[in-house]
Amino acid sequence: MLKATGLTKTYDNVKALDDVSFEIKQGDITGFLGPNGAGKTTTLRILTGYMIPDSGEITYNDKSLEPNSKEILGSIGYLPEENPLYGNLRVDEFLTYTAKIKNAYDLKELKEIADKCGLESVMTKTIDTLSKGFKQRVGFAKTLIGNPKFLIMDEPTEGLDPNQKEEILKLIKEIAKDKTIIFSSHVLSEVRQIANNVIIINRGKIVAQGNSDKLILKHFKNSLVTLRTDAPITKLNQELKKVKTVFAVDRKSKDRAKFSEYAITCSNPEETSLEIFKAISKNRWHLIELHSQSQGLEELFKELTK
Ligand code: ADP
Repeated sequence: MLKATGLTKTYDNVKALDDVSFEIKQGDITGFLGPNGAGKTTTLRILTGYMIPDSGEITYNDKSLEPNSKEILGSIGYLPEENPLYGNLRVDEFLTYTAKIKNAYDLKELKEIADKCGLESVMTKTIDTLSKGFKQRVGFAKTLIGNPKFLIMDEPTEGLDPNQKEEILKLIKEIAKDKTIIFSSHVLSEVRQIANNVIIINRGKIVAQGNSDKLILKHFKNSLVTLRTDAPITKLNQELKKVKTVFAVDRKSKDRAKFSEYAITCSNPEETSLEIFKAISKNRWHLIELHSQSQGLEELFKELTK
């Protein structure tokens, strides 16, 4: 388990982190979300021992991270945002060099890491000649050397095209099996795609953390159901008054064929839709459209980072 307690950090007079605390369980993939300037990079640098906070504490499996905690630092793989590589080396030379520096040189393991990261075809190419997607894979491979249990990645998909992003996300998911991962991002869709846990930071403060579905449920108690039907409005209102989960019915529009669109605010979209469907069939009205829109991580993010 990784635990951060009361982290604060001020640069000159900018308070980048203000009493930041969170916990990450073993085996979780955590998306660390926040708009630019929220404090993501600062937090990740502190977690990896690259930066010392003004106050606060980090523990890995209940052991405090001290500047010379060799054991803890050896269990962390860090992929910084700028992904520093030696561009004039070949991929195989670079990985060998990194493994030797980490005191973890093992040819068989290096081959396995290279395979996992899809680098077989570029092992003898010079890093500078690779695409950004492949450079990012090399960064990943470098991070995996020495089999760290914790992987900390700062905006790992930034600057990649949609296909490369997809591949990197797939790779993160694959390597996550026996690791605890935290990756920062300001792209919600990718966090939702692979993370089971989210931490949202805004202006140096944590504004939400936990399982994304549970957070959404907690913050948005109401859902919307959209209905298009030719039911007469007064009769429809009478029917929907009987449904306990319905809070409000608003007519949005009416078209030439006498169909009206309604936005129905309710507490349980599935149950509400079923009751609406029953009322419409019982009255032999026509149903053109019936669907629910649950609020998602996007809305939650917007709400919390206003
Ligand atoms: P994020 O990674 O979420 O974009 P950062 O951690 O990089 O956020 O930055 C948090 C805040 O600290 C921002 O206001 C940023 O301008 C400021 N900041 C970051 N690094 C420095 C620095 N070296 N000197 C001064 N201010 C900094």
